[in-house]
Amino acid sequence: MASISLKNICKTYAGDVKAVIDFNLEIHDKEFVVFVGPSGCGKSTTLRMIAGLEEITSGDLYIEDRRVNNVEPKDRDIAMVFQNYALYPYMTVFENMAFGLRLRKVPKKEIEQKVKEASKILGIEDYLNRKPKNLSGGQRQRVALGRAIVREPKVFLLDEPLSNLDAKMRTQMRTEIIRLHNELQTTFVYVTHDQTEAMTMGTRIVVMKDGYIQQVDTPDNLYDYPVNKFVAGFIGTPQMNFVDVIMEQDGKKVSAVFGRNRIEIAKETVARITAEEVNKRQFVIGIRSEDVRLCDESEDTSKNKAIANGVVKITEKLGNETLVYCTLEGLPDSEFVVRGGARCRVNIGDPVKIAFDTIHMQLFDYDTELNLLKR
Ligand code: ADP
Repeated sequence: MASISLKNICKTYAGDVKAVIDFNLEIHDKEFVVFVGPSGCGKSTTLRMIAGLEEITSGDLYIEDRRVNNVEPKDRDIAMVFQNYALYPYMTVFENMAFGLRLRKVPKKEIEQKVKEASKILGIEDYLNRKPKNLSGGQRQRVALGRAIVREPKVFLLDEPLSNLDAKMRTQMRTEIIRLHNELQTTFVYVTHDQTEAMTMGTRIVVMKDGYIQQVDTPDNLYDYPVNKFVAGFIGTPQMNFVDVIMEQDGKKVSAVFGRNRIEIAKETVARITAEEVNKRQFVIGIRSEDVRLCDESEDTSKNKAIANGVVKITEKLGNETLVYCTLEGLPDSEFVVRGGARCRVNIGDPVKIAFDTIHMQLFDYDTELNLLKR
């Protein structure tokens, strides 16, 4: 059992570097929480404060009901796994995993039992006598995880544990860490700059920017209800399309005008904006590449009021789909990406009609960049 509570946590480094600002979060027992954000946003610093490796400038940190601001790392009942594995090169896998337990004078039989169990969970039983240099990156990271598991900590803290692995191994280890979390039924806090890792692993995700929390939510909610333009752009690949628009209202109908295009906004979306906000006129529309589509040449588009014109700039064939990057008519510097099918046949310079599914768009305030759509 371990919940973690961060209350008004701040970290200022020497030279007045404000790395983490007023961080408030309740991490529940057995949760898998991921801190994600661009490099330098304060993720590692926050994790290291939980670990006790970094002093907390102000605020309160609780593990369960105990305030641990001044508790030594070794007395916090946590285990940390790092990007660079931090294995002892001259020790075997077994010795690396047993090391912490030996220091604590755990009886030999118990150590053997625990190492055996952990190595079985991680599928590294056959490598126990090897030295780290004779292991692949993925195997080394398993040893590092094993070393944490044998200690049976209340909390696992993982700092970019997969960044040194190649893409294929990263995907595999991702699944293994999810399985590990299910099996161990312990609280996991995981730091990554990779939004795909965050989205696939976290039960809840904390998106950070410049030392501030932007949004704490489930992966689904982050995707569909981003609180601001930053979160909307950070989560999802390819990045969400953003278009500066002027809103025009004609009775109940609301349209967005951009370049030489005008699209009517679905009534379901209009119902989520206040009348007062519609009157502001200037907005940024956000729409994901899967919520727009290229119209077929033979398609009758005369009845569809949400079609924009564009020209193909680049296509990216990904095998299972094609990303079609366009410029929008009247906006020569714009870039707008549409997901085409695997066998999408368009060429650079082709004029295209882009149909918007405006039920699934976002609407941001031009100045504050906050999402104006109510959930
Ligand atoms: P992230 O993990 O999101 O990449 P960090 O938590 O490592 O970000 O860093 C947050 C900010 O704090 C950055 O601006 C970084 O340069 C600064 N920082 C990190 N460690 C130190 C340190 N030991 N001394 C001074 N500044 C630091």
